[in-house]
Amino acid sequence: REAAAVAAWTGPGATADGHTVDVLANVQDGAGARKAAATGAQGVGLFRTELCFLDADSEPSVAEQARIYGEVFAAFAGREGGSKVVLRTLDAGSDKPLKFATAPDEENPALGVRGLRIAWGQPGILDRQLDAIALAAEQTGTSPWVMAPMVATAAEARDFATKVRARGLTAGVMIEIPAAALHAERILREVDFLSIGTNDLCQYTLAADRLSADLAHLNDPWQPALLQLVAMTAAAGVAAGKPVGVCGEAAADPLLGAVLAGMGVTSLSCAASAISAVGARLAQVELAACQKAARAAVAADDPAAARAAARESLLGV
Ligand code: PEP
Ligand code: MG
Repeated sequence: REAAAVAAWTGPGATADGHTVDVLANVQDGAGARKAAATGAQGVGLFRTELCFLDADSEPSVAEQARIYGEVFAAFAGREGGSKVVLRTLDAGSDKPLKFATAPDEENPALGVRGLRIAWGQPGILDRQLDAIALAAEQTGTSPWVMAPMVATAAEARDFATKVRARGLTAGVMIEIPAAALHAERILREVDFLSIGTNDLCQYTLAADRLSADLAHLNDPWQPALLQLVAMTAAAGVAAGKPVGVCGEAAADPLLGAVLAGMGVTSLSCAASAISAVGARLAQVELAACQKAARAAVAADDPAAARAAARESLLGV
């Protein structure tokens, strides 16, 4: 029955009682975006642009970047009611070094000059990427949303938003650093939307390298401390009346997706392969049960207890 519900799900994302939650895809190129568009994905919640350039020896030209970004924008262009495509500016560094952007000799790259921080020493890289995004938007007749990775403060969010809006685009930031989650309300005064990256937010909250097999039990998206920061961020979005999505691995877990919806998250973005399962689970539960599950998961002592409490609230098992 479960498999049939997943196979039958075509979107749009909503709970059984009609509370809408956009179900979006994480993509890294045009082919992935076209594949996602063929599933029930309503758009793209995370376009990881740095993955386009992992092999590049030098910075691609503005025209070349525009061609690549435009392929993803075009995959969802012209849909009725419009489709959201959220592009993330280069998240270079740490686990995703780029030859033309990243300092090679950092001792502690996860805490180093990565993501938006690269633009402090090399502002031209971000400026040219934003020029390319604006050009691709113009060429495809679309209105992508643009967000920065690894933002720690409201001042960083303001500077980024100024550059993005100067090009007529919608500006947001990722919440992947605990300080940013704690200051979500202030950051929301500076930008149009937030997207929570639970993979990095978990690694930085638990101080556990996300690539370490020995620490995998700490890097669990059901960690109650992580969920508390996510809930705070979502509540700030509800209060501000601005969208707050989740685009980390947490959004690919159907049960956790329902919990996130209960916190007030407005979109879930995950690998195309997980979209139907996430959408089908949402369609089976009511918003009040999601809210109850969210409270229970945050109050739990550990990931297993959080998952069990959510199952009990949502599925009665
Ligand atoms: C995240 O950190 O949760 C995220 C979505 O970004 P990435 O996994 O690419 O770091
Ligand atoms: Mg991240």
